[in-house]
Parts: sequence; C-alpha cells; structure tokens
Amino acid sequence: MKAAVVTKDHRVSIEDKELRPIEHGEALVAMEYCGVCHTDLHVKNADFGDVTGVVLGHEGIGVVKEIAEGVTSLKVGDRVSVAWFFEGCGHCEYCVNGNETLCRSVKNAGYTVDGGMAEECIVTADYAVKVPEGLDPAAASSVTCAGVTTYKAVKVSNVKPGQWLMISGLGGLGNLALQYAKNVFNMKVIAVDVNEKQLAFAKEMGADVVLNPMEVNVEEEIIKLTDGGAHGAVVTAVAKSAFNSAVNAVRAAGTVVAVGLPPESMDLSIPRLVLDGIHVVGSLVGTREDLKEAFEFAKEGKVIPRVQMRQLEEINEIFDEMEAGNIQGRMVLDLTK
Ligand SMILES: [Zn+2]
Ligand SMILES: [Zn+2]
Repeated sequence: MKAAVVTKDHRVSIEDKELRPIEHGEALVAMEYCGVCHTDLHVKNADFGDVTGVVLGHEGIGVVKEIAEGVTSLKVGDRVSVAWFFEGCGHCEYCVNGNETLCRSVKNAGYTVDGGMAEECIVTADYAVKVPEGLDPAAASSVTCAGVTTYKAVKVSNVKPGQWLMISGLGGLGNLALQYAKNVFNMKVIAVDVNEKQLAFAKEMGADVVLNPMEVNVEEEIIKLTDGGAHGAVVTAVAKSAFNSAVNAVRAAGTVVAVGLPPESMDLSIPRLVLDGIHVVGSLVGTREDLKEAFEFAKEGKVIPRVQMRQLEEINEIFDEMEAGNIQGRMVLDLTK
C-alpha cells in the first residue's frame, strides 16, 4: 500500500509499504482522508528528533477493514479517526485522571507510530475514536487534530456564556476556536490577528470584535471594550508577543490558554500573576472523550472546518506552501483514489 514516509533528508517519499499483520486489540483501517497539520512539518523536519522511515499523519479518517482478536469496541465498517493521541498506557495517574494526552508513555500517530497518510493504518482499537454518522469524513479529519485542540482550549479557558474570550491568531486553528467559542459555548469573541484577511474571515464567521495589533493597542482596546479585560484568552499564534499581550488583556482571575508553540519563553510579571490571580495553562490536543464531543458538535453543523482536497503525491508541495505561509484552511489528502 502507498504511504507518505519521512526520509533522512527531511522530505517525504511516497513509498509502497507492507504493513505487519494486526495483533491482539488492533484494527486495520482503510484510510479515506488525512489532514496536513503544522506538527507534521515539525516531525518531518526532525524538530522533535529523527523519525526517518515513519509514516506521517495524525488527522486521519478511515473505515475499519479488519479487526484482530480481543477487539470489542469496533467492528468492521466503523468509521474511525487516527489522532495525534494514538494510545496511552491506560493505567498511570494521567490516564486514569482524565489527562491521558499527558501520559508519559504516550504513542503519537505519524511520529512514534505509523500514521494515517497512507492507504492503510493499524490502530489500537480502544483508542480509535468513532466518527459519528452524518459527519462528512473530510471535515472529520480536521476535527481530529485542529478541531479537538481548539475545542479543548476553549473549554479549559473556563469562560462562561456571554463572557469575553480573546482569540489570538485566526489561522486554521483560531478559526475553529472561534466557531467552537461562538456556536457551542456562546461566548463573546474578540479576534486578534496581524493579517487583515484572517480578520475579515473571522468577522464573517461571527467574531464580535476584530483587532489588528499593527493598528491598535490591543490590550487597551480590550480592557476598554470589556470593562476590565477579557475573561479568558486562547492563543494559537506563534509569536511570543501574542502571549504577552494575552496576559495583559485578561481581567483579574482570567485564564490564558497556550496552544501555539513559539520556541521562546513568555514574559509574565509575578505581581500580575499573584495580585490579579491570573491562570496560565498549556493545552495539548484532547482526550478521546474531548474528540467525541468535538465530532458531535461538528456533526450538528455548529463547526465547519474549511478544507481543500489534495492528493497524497502533493505532500512535499503542501509542506513547501506551509513553510511559505501560503495555506488558507486545511489541506486534506484524499486517499480514496
Ligand atoms: Zn496536528
Ligand atoms: Zn498513561
């Protein structure tokens, strides 16, 4: 079967790869779609260590073709996801306390195990979240990483209906965060981005206010507009300044949720943290339960990912476009042809 394999020189080659037979508790999935995430770019560039030979892909959707012994959670014909959170140990404190994505022996699809940019993929059945009927599988692929990541981040911001959420960075992730915040949690949203095109799209998607830090002092504007600061902020931007600005734009007891991954440290005044009781939390993808919820809301039409279909053979081109910052919405590989 065809698969997108990471090469030593940080490219991806489409190779004919033979999968091993499935073992106890596993299922074989015939892949339909797989989204291309910024994390895939980091993986293939060896930013997280050399993984030459691994099959990329953690926004995969496919249909179960075969199940091994011991599988009770899936049956042949079920549509399932191949997510970054591929498998946890199932028994550590993180796995049993609802923080399974933080499991210290976690396996990640398309990184530590072969992922979904292939015609077929082996999954651990109990960890492959089912896609509800009625949800378009290409849209589901985007929910599998970008969707659940932003859904979870908005959830942990703890902002209540009618309260203000600042979303910094309105690209692929931020736009989904906006839809979850508005259409699922009924928050009021302030969208912040340096790109006018992204802001225009955010406005179209229901942002209550849009602000460009190149034009206004975002922190002052937000404090004025919300009478004291936003109740929470979700930062998907990859500039350190966006994180600092979020800390300054939330009100006392506000929460700043970090999703973007700039390589630097953020500035956080300790008096600000202590005297104003600011919460700063990192949020990493989502648990199986989070993904199930994120799928349900997408199925109800509350969240519509913007996807564009591409072919597996175009993967290196897509990465080049990504590095050049030329991607709008989500590129999804069509693996059905
Ligand atoms: Zn991802
Ligand atoms: Zn664990």
